[in-house]
Amino acid sequence: STTIPSTMRASVLLEAGRIEMQERPVPTAGPGEVLVRVGSVGVCGSDVHYYKHGRIGDMVVTAPLVLGHEVSGTIVAVGPGVEEDRVGERVALDPQVPCRRCRQCKAGRSNLCPFMEFYATPPFDGTFCDYVTAPADQAFAVPDSMSDESAALLEPLSVGLWAAHKGNVGPGDQVLIAGAGPIGAMVAQAVRACGATDIVVTDFVDSRRERITSFGATRALHPVQDKDEIAALRVDTFVDCSGATPAVLSGIASTRGGGAVVLVGLGAEEMPIPVQLIATREITLTGVFRYIDTWPRGIELETSGAVHLDDMVTARYPLEQVEEALNADSDPLSMKAVVVVNPAA
Ligand code: NAD
Ligand code: ZN
Repeated sequence: STTIPSTMRASVLLEAGRIEMQERPVPTAGPGEVLVRVGSVGVCGSDVHYYKHGRIGDMVVTAPLVLGHEVSGTIVAVGPGVEEDRVGERVALDPQVPCRRCRQCKAGRSNLCPFMEFYATPPFDGTFCDYVTAPADQAFAVPDSMSDESAALLEPLSVGLWAAHKGNVGPGDQVLIAGAGPIGAMVAQAVRACGATDIVVTDFVDSRRERITSFGATRALHPVQDKDEIAALRVDTFVDCSGATPAVLSGIASTRGGGAVVLVGLGAEEMPIPVQLIATREITLTGVFRYIDTWPRGIELETSGAVHLDDMVTARYPLEQVEEALNADSDPLSMKAVVVVNPAA
């Protein structure tokens, strides 16, 4: 088997705007865990936010933090209790480590576990480094045909799959999505894979509207120029991936009686809600926080060609250039920047 070094490279956020490469000890796989040599790591808006502002709401970077949580790699060692033959397996990691004991976990809502440990959420280090550990059952084998990059992007796809699930999206449905950023694009791909046939996506940014039709959207509309067309819609499901108050309000107004509104975007902390409209149309309003057990389906969808994750990668950087990758990702022309930590052999 592979020789595992005692130290590794880690790209560490020291404070807002300051990233440093450090040498750190390679972690050891504990009971039930695997040690993974990191392949690719996708850059997420939350990584960019921590880098630029040192915090997301009340989650504050008070000690050096390794960013990155959209991750794939290869199992190089297993801890006690894990089948030895998993060494060498290429995997994608579900970055959630719930406690599995609390009431939320036991009720099947592990994404809402109050004791959750999540890569790159203070104080837990993320995956912009050579090696990480994960519970063995959160490491999902991916087929040879799937690239490391696609395997890493199963994480943002999971947000899309969970949004489609929470919005009850099914065959023949009409779906409105606000925001054509990477999350809006993942939702578009996910709802298409669930059988939605009319997928309308809105965004102010021309380049993002133009691009979104290659990621599952059947129509891309401008929130202001096309506002009459948007207002005339009565969709089965509206998914907000913008976090913008006007988008949420117009999306709710464009949802049919008995339809669903799914809030994914984390922008405005509060906004006025049209209570009478929601009541009289019996609209189901729900949030989305990450996902539950979406990797097996994501792997099936990517393998069968129902979603296209490779096409979402717009730039690649080595581990030494995490800072460049974080800056690239705030550019509207960027869909997904990926840090190739260890290129595939
Ligand atoms: P992004 O900023 O790249 O995309 C948001 C898009 O919304 C932008 O293209 C912007 O131009 C567009 N927009 C702004 N105002 C609009 C309006 N009025 N109508 C239509 N579009 C409008 O962000 P992203 O990485 O794609 O993430 C989207 C949102 O999802 C973020 O708020 C992020 O925090 C959130 N998110 C939530 C979860 C979760 O678990 N709930 C997970 C990941 C991301
Ligand atoms: Zn729990």
